[in-house]
Amino acid sequence: MKVGIPGGLLYYRYGKLWTSFLEALGAEVVESGETTRSILSSGVSKAENESCLPVKVFYGHVLALRGKVDAIFVPRLVSVKRGTHTCPKMLGLPDLARAAVEDEIPVIAPTINFQEGMWANYRAVYSLGRLFARNPFRILRAGMEAWREHRLYLERLTLGLDHRSALKGEAVDLLCEGRELRIGVIGHHYNVYDTFTTMSLLDRLGYMGVDVVTADMVPEKLKERELKRLPKEIYWSYEREVAGAILACSRYRLVDGIIFMISFPCGPDSIIRVLCEQENRRLGGVPMLSLVIDEHTGEGGFLTRIEAFVDMLRRRKDPALRAREAVAV
Ligand code: SF4
Repeated sequence: MKVGIPGGLLYYRYGKLWTSFLEALGAEVVESGETTRSILSSGVSKAENESCLPVKVFYGHVLALRGKVDAIFVPRLVSVKRGTHTCPKMLGLPDLARAAVEDEIPVIAPTINFQEGMWANYRAVYSLGRLFARNPFRILRAGMEAWREHRLYLERLTLGLDHRSALKGEAVDLLCEGRELRIGVIGHHYNVYDTFTTMSLLDRLGYMGVDVVTADMVPEKLKERELKRLPKEIYWSYEREVAGAILACSRYRLVDGIIFMISFPCGPDSIIRVLCEQENRRLGGVPMLSLVIDEHTGEGGFLTRIEAFVDMLRRRKDPALRAREAVAV
């Protein structure tokens, strides 16, 4: 069976897990590939206008698989940590995929929900495996192998590899090479690692002589510690990571500045943004730039803001440069 995996949204986190599992069970996996102008355009023209940019991009990825596969794989992730939920738009992704392909292609959509306990999740994975293999031991082996690959992928991200290098297992450290300036680029995986929608931000910062720290690179312990300090628990699974990383970067001065990548119009991010900006100010933390992108964001304006932010951080860091500028004035 040819199974299509749309390369948007949670693919940036679980793509390796999904492809490894399906391939180990004998499925031929077809990925929609990286986001391109035509994927974005088709997503934007067909998706609900009120959707956030990543959902529109995801829609485009689903459409790109039309006519190429026998089924499309879009799991429904309800909760990935007890006591938390994913964003409502993610809950509806399988239905959105069905609408995109107008029910021409079946959508395989196992439900993962940590609120219902681990056994419910094991059962969902087993039922998924049964679509491809009868032998329960084969399904178990495939699951274990896929989980190992997934852990390896996440570990590579924590070591400073970007999404593409981590997927290929390349031993190149692209993000952290000891340059003079260090900036935290924090946001959801799909907002940080999608090279098309971010206009290759990570690479560009590298060319500007900036080391990048992503949320994956901030130690888990520090993120959890920051979340416990908040007056209220954050309810959304992935927002917890984002907020924890920003606050840890700010309190422990892990970076010289923070770029918070947000997609328009993201409800959870807009709340987290206010929370993080307030806490950052209260901590007397590092400068923070919240960059909101959508399908209309132009490259010129986007780059100007990045360059201005990097220049400002350079000036703050270099007292000699500040003194020279003061004398010139
Ligand atoms: S968290 Fe925000 S960006 Fe992500 S899917 Fe939900 S609304 Fe969209």
